[in-house]
Amino acid sequence: MAGREEMGRGPCPCGGGEIVVTRCTPDHGWPSNNVWWECELNCERCQKEFTIFSESDDPRPKVVRRTDFEEHKRREDAWHLKRQSIMETDRVTAVIQQLASRLEQEKP
Ligand SMILES: [Zn+2]
Repeated sequence: MAGREEMGRGPCPCGGGEIVVTRCTPDHGWPSNNVWWECELNCERCQKEFTIFSESDDPRPKVVRRTDFEEHKRREDAWHLKRQSIMETDRVTAVIQQLASRLEQEKP
């Protein structure tokens, strides 16, 4: 069976429910870095306001306000779009350079 170890529980932000954090490991016995965390927010009221969020460089889940999470996501999307637009600019620049050197070769 897969290893599931409860790492902690505590009151939710409003105090009406609780947060349970579970550390999960694969079901084989040998040591592995493949560990993930599950976080449950057992509170209807807080589920509306908060969400569980794990950063890619830190597998430990965090409880964040939905509004903050949306804002983070919006900025991340903007960052990806910006990166993409720079990539496209580079591509356009490369094409223009190719065209320029070709025109240079075809000069009489
Ligand atoms: Zn709550």
